[in-house]
Amino acid sequence: MIRLHVAADLRAGAGFEAGPDQAHYLTRVMRLSENDELLLFNGRDGEWRARLSDVGKRGCVLIVTDATRAQVIGPDLELIIAVVKRPRLETIIEKAAELGVRDIRLATTARTNADHIRLDRLQAIATEASEQTGRLDVPALSGPVRLGDILSAWPATRRLLFCDEAGDAPPAAEALAGEAPGAWAVLIGPEGGFSPAERTAVRSIPSALPVSLGPRILRADTAAIAALTLWQSQLGDWRGA
Ligand code: SAH
Repeated sequence: MIRLHVAADLRAGAGFEAGPDQAHYLTRVMRLSENDELLLFNGRDGEWRARLSDVGKRGCVLIVTDATRAQVIGPDLELIIAVVKRPRLETIIEKAAELGVRDIRLATTARTNADHIRLDRLQAIATEASEQTGRLDVPALSGPVRLGDILSAWPATRRLLFCDEAGDAPPAAEALAGEAPGAWAVLIGPEGGFSPAERTAVRSIPSALPVSLGPRILRADTAAIAALTLWQSQLGDWRGA
């Protein structure tokens, strides 16, 4: 069944106009018609069954019927990713949403090649990926913010998994084995890597955990997927109960 993320509050009997893009998708692309069912979520109220009504040339109305799942929230995992070229950035955002990241922050660094950022387009990618995975929230995307500003405001309670390509950090799986779940962030650098000053600054954060992702230099998208996979399997919701 089709799942859509919506902004509206969801409760039995609620009805609202689908946005133009969603109406187009439902009635033109997927060819749904009057009374056809779909699932809705908004990140707050769980997942609900809904049906189409008032299907017309200019749109359609969604009528919420009954709850299918209660709201759950995934692990408190943030991804901080240096801005990289758009196709790779889009991959990272899609995969981060699939891998259960709660928030994504874009960072600019000394060696960032700042492409023009279309945050709305990137947010749409995160939303589509979330709709497809079955998760009940969508990662919130923000930035770009300077890495230095992120580090200077770093909260003491959040651990920072620093993916450091320089090679002298311990292997990620070993380093994570001794750690506890809780609030974490994963930091991935740009294609040009972190500058020496940035490496020093990140490592000076008391809650930072520098790690290596193996002896090969990975592209930023591969590094993000690898780090998130390791974190989810060791500390996140891939573990058994
Ligand atoms: N141009 C850099 C590589 C940057 S790769 C160089 O040649 O050194 C982009 C980012 O992916 C890095 O900043 C780092 O965060 C992550 N990364 C890539 N390979 C890694 C590895 N083997 N271990 C840890 N992090 C890695």
